[in-house]
Amino acid sequence: MNVLVINCGSSSLKYQLINMNDESVLAKGLVERIGIEGSVLKHEKTGMDKVVIQEPMKDHKDAINHVLTALVDANYGAVKSLDEVDAVGHRVVHGGEKFADSVLITDEVIKAMKECIELAPLHNPPNIIGIEACQELLPSVPMVGVFDTAFHQTMPPVSYIYPLPYELYEELGIRRYGFHGTSHKYVSERVEALTGKELEGMKIITCHLGNGASLTAIKDGKSFDTSMGMTPLEGLVMGTRCGDIDPAIVTFLMNKKNISAEQVDNLMNKKSGVLGISGVSSDFRDIEGAADEGNTRAQLALDKFAYTVKKYIGSYAAAMGGVDVLVFTAGLGENSAPARKQVCEGLEFLGVEIDDAKNNTRGKEAEISKDNSKVKVYVIPTNEELMIARDTKALAHK
Ligand code: AMP
Repeated sequence: MNVLVINCGSSSLKYQLINMNDESVLAKGLVERIGIEGSVLKHEKTGMDKVVIQEPMKDHKDAINHVLTALVDANYGAVKSLDEVDAVGHRVVHGGEKFADSVLITDEVIKAMKECIELAPLHNPPNIIGIEACQELLPSVPMVGVFDTAFHQTMPPVSYIYPLPYELYEELGIRRYGFHGTSHKYVSERVEALTGKELEGMKIITCHLGNGASLTAIKDGKSFDTSMGMTPLEGLVMGTRCGDIDPAIVTFLMNKKNISAEQVDNLMNKKSGVLGISGVSSDFRDIEGAADEGNTRAQLALDKFAYTVKKYIGSYAAAMGGVDVLVFTAGLGENSAPARKQVCEGLEFLGVEIDDAKNNTRGKEAEISKDNSKVKVYVIPTNEELMIARDTKALAHK
């Protein structure tokens, strides 16, 4: 059985075709600049060089059409015909309280997804456009939606409620939802495999540190608390997002700078985080490079980032009454030994002890804690596409 995994952004689209018999990736790729001049599809059949297809793609349907054409191409395609695409799994950012699990897509489901748009006005519309485009192009193929928020639906009310008038939760759904759920779930399941111990009874803190970043406290295999909130803006300092700030800064800025709500939103989402502090870049590699050359603001950005992650680890250990396993994943978490070391420094009192030699690893599963460390620390590359494909396979079979 082959599953096509689709992740639609506003002007981009990532895909993987996965053979679910052995979970191997047959082909993958990325379309960028959809609906903008210079549309480009970068397609890679496993074992072959990447091909770059530059053609105008006016919308997501057009882009998906090009992807499907590439998948069946005689030279660089991965299958002979589209009949070999058995199901499609779509990443959907926000499922609100409606979706606590992945779901087979029906008209009803699309209607419910549309009702979640106001909670994620930037993310959900391209996800839905991608689903509708695939339905038109592959009308007889089952489609499954996998939500970033679903894993966190197990959070208890004390984790998800905000201290605002309770009616706002009831009327408008203002609460913590959390994101990166597919990633946090995947790495926690890998912990089970790597330790050989059941998740039941285990306290795990998973650190998804990429351009977007979030921490999750996982108790008995279930999300207990997570740092992102109603939107992916809350929590850690990120590439361009501010994370936690005093909410009064929003109205202060609007008054002082005479700017609109949208402008403050843009400032907090696109111009803040490590980019805002350093003034250098949102990319941690650039910032680490600048800090090495003596740029003090770049160093401050790195310090603030690591300090915030450390504070969250401490607060989640307190919330769960301890921690057994700490996991680092996503771009920075998987690749940056200095960032992992900086986060863990000073956490010896919790029983976290990193081994510098073991920490000198990148991009592969590894235990990086000292043999006698009370808390086991792992690097686990995330694989959201595989999680989406697994859920898709399970639901499409039903
Ligand atoms: P993601 O959003 O998961 O793709 O992660 C992207 C982030 O990971 C970017 O800010 C990159 O700078 C960071 N990253 C990737 N590789 C490295 C590396 N070798 N060292 C430091 N940061 C890295």
